[in-house]
Amino acid sequence: MLPPTTIPILESVASCRTWRLKAFDEKKSVGFVPTMGAFHEGHLSLVRRSLSENDLTVVSIFVNPGQFAPGEDFEKYPRMLSRDLEQLAGGQVSVGGVFRTTSAVFLPSVQEMHPSGITRDVASQKGTFVEVEGCSHQMEGAIRPTLYRAIATIVTKLFNVVQPTNVYLGQKDIQQALMIRQLCRDLLLADPDAKRVHIVRTVRDPIDGVALSSRNAYLSVDERSCAGTLYRALQAAETAWTRGGTKEKSISAAAAVVEQGKIEAASKGVEMKLEYVEMNDADSFEVLDGKLHKGSRSLGGTNPILLTGMLWVGKTRLVDNIVIGDSGTIVS
Ligand code: AMP
Repeated sequence: MLPPTTIPILESVASCRTWRLKAFDEKKSVGFVPTMGAFHEGHLSLVRRSLSENDLTVVSIFVNPGQFAPGEDFEKYPRMLSRDLEQLAGGQVSVGGVFRTTSAVFLPSVQEMHPSGITRDVASQKGTFVEVEGCSHQMEGAIRPTLYRAIATIVTKLFNVVQPTNVYLGQKDIQQALMIRQLCRDLLLADPDAKRVHIVRTVRDPIDGVALSSRNAYLSVDERSCAGTLYRALQAAETAWTRGGTKEKSISAAAAVVEQGKIEAASKGVEMKLEYVEMNDADSFEVLDGKLHKGSRSLGGTNPILLTGMLWVGKTRLVDNIVIGDSGTIVS
């Protein structure tokens, strides 16, 4: 049973298509915010942006089993539909004196989104999958090798149904967002056109800079008090880089912050482990050369750089990033 809400809920692909056809007929622009639910201010910032730039906004909530490898947190991923719907219903944006709220929530079933079925073990999967070669196996994709194939596949399906004019994605998941832009370009999608895939800046805790994430709910109070280490480490690397240091120096600066953070964490009984801090060219995703300041072949000194990191705090994996250089060319 669905919780009561004032927002129309589209539970099937057919109902979403009918809704979209009406918007096409009425020549209304449609902004789309794909999510897995458990909303925080990061999600809501995307929704507000969509509300302000489109006649209509549709938000999808779908915890896609395909993107959780066996052993990952699919079962315990937070699901809080009634709270999510309340937050959407309460989130209004005034445009020219007219209040806009979310026009519809798309809540598809696993069966409809994966008509050939879905197993979380890639080796036994059947059906059609989308893979964006060249940008799925670096950074987080190196640690979670099947993640971006699953995301590319589900997002292609969602785009086929919603056919959005504009899409809003978070910088928090920069690899995902850039991959989706490339997917739209490579597959010649019109709805959305790659130029209409907007990447919105990461919303952070104002006190310690921790990037908001649904998975932060897994952290105990003590773990949460240590989570700021990742962003501080990335900031240290950014500072070293902008002062003219090499990638090696920048990453060492980040590692030093993590080492200090580990000592403080240990005093609270919290274990932390740095999975990686890396620097990649934002265009080619090429790993920068550690010995150079300029970095990768395609960098030419001007492309933005993705400074990304993954830190385990207890059993929770946190990811974060800073875009160095002219970030305005990819994030806005
Ligand atoms: P999720 O529900 O985690 O799949 O996220 C849905 C969308 O919200 C994705 O485009 C995320 O990148 C974005 N998002 C998640 N956290 C943040 C954040 N702290 N700031 C901005 N966007 C975010």
